[in-house]
Amino acid sequence: MKTCPKYTFGVGDRFANGAHAQLTAFIEANKLGIDIVPVWNKSNREHNIIGSEPIQTRQAADKAVADLGWTGEYLLDADHINLSTVDRFVAPCDFFTLDVADDIGEAADPADVAAFIAKHPELIGTVAIEGIAAPFEISRADVEKTANQFLKATQKAAAIYQHIVKAKGGVDNFVTEVSMDETDSPQTPPEMLIILAAIADQGIPIQTIAPKFTGRFNKGVDYVGDVAQFEKEFNDDLAVIAHAIKTYGLPAALKLSVHSGSDKFSIYPIIKKAIQRTGAGLHIKTAGTNWLEEIVGLAEAGGDGLALAKQIYAKALEKKEALCEPYATVIDISDAKLPSAETVNGWTSTQFTDALRHDESNPGYNADLRQLLHVGFKIAAQLGPVYIQALHDNKEVVAKNVTGNLLDRHMKPLFL
Ligand SMILES: [Zn+2]
Repeated sequence: MKTCPKYTFGVGDRFANGAHAQLTAFIEANKLGIDIVPVWNKSNREHNIIGSEPIQTRQAADKAVADLGWTGEYLLDADHINLSTVDRFVAPCDFFTLDVADDIGEAADPADVAAFIAKHPELIGTVAIEGIAAPFEISRADVEKTANQFLKATQKAAAIYQHIVKAKGGVDNFVTEVSMDETDSPQTPPEMLIILAAIADQGIPIQTIAPKFTGRFNKGVDYVGDVAQFEKEFNDDLAVIAHAIKTYGLPAALKLSVHSGSDKFSIYPIIKKAIQRTGAGLHIKTAGTNWLEEIVGLAEAGGDGLALAKQIYAKALEKKEALCEPYATVIDISDAKLPSAETVNGWTSTQFTDALRHDESNPGYNADLRQLLHVGFKIAAQLGPVYIQALHDNKEVVAKNVTGNLLDRHMKPLFL
């Protein structure tokens, strides 16, 4: 097993054009004493939408690392893959996010459920966890219910894991994450404990787990939910993970993964406090926010760049339903708050960047427009070389926004 570094930070490079600007943020953070490892992640869904291949992400990352002389570790995430989509990721990737969200709720063999319950008497009754004040009270029925909901999903995760081991020719060269975030209901800390026991039983050397937390983790915008409840849940999850490492022999590096983690500014202080207090690791994904910064950069550039940003918005508005469909569980867009294409066409650079850049103190900020553009990268993909040329033509202003967003709005608040 490849050991996952303590702090890993997922960045997305939708158009294989931003790795240098992203890596610059890690280099600058490093100078400030923040030791975080970049993980370039791009899901199968994003590759399909754009028409790209995982090997291109690998090439862009390798080139940035070589050009900028990065001597630290870096990883490439096969993000949200399953048995039917993993193959093209095997060679270029060394981090695999096994997505079992769609399998949650699928019935496991009743004999397997019974065997799981029989094997885990420690999960039933009063379960004291170091770091959690009130012990969990878990009934046999609770364990059975959770097993019925999640056991099949962990069995499927094991099948994907075994497939990767076989394809990679061994277990040594990759990190394994299990993700359950893209689903409707959050997993509670007691459920997390039961799930981790099941994952351990399946022999998956899981090093990061991405639960669905309470509240909304909409793409590219701030957390929506009960911040105090999130804090309790996050801290309880950390305690459960530490307990599961000891109890079930899971890898010592096992940590929480916060998916759709970009721009969740209101909970960053909570996450920071929790990891500093406990010494726990963290994986946080900020993939899509990078593409938005490309658009911010183009808009800021004015001229043809601004015109292209407006064109992308108009087209995204027109194709809104289709663009939003694959992201239904992770966006909330109010149509009434989306400006018309005509309105946006009349905007200056500043009006456009005020609306798009994530600064809630700016009265022009528009979270609905931001979410629509977040899922609108397909429009840029359809523009093909025109979009890529615009990124080249406005390289500096785009890079300034990509680097600054990661460093100042994400890394510093989380780790400094
Ligand atoms: Zn996810």
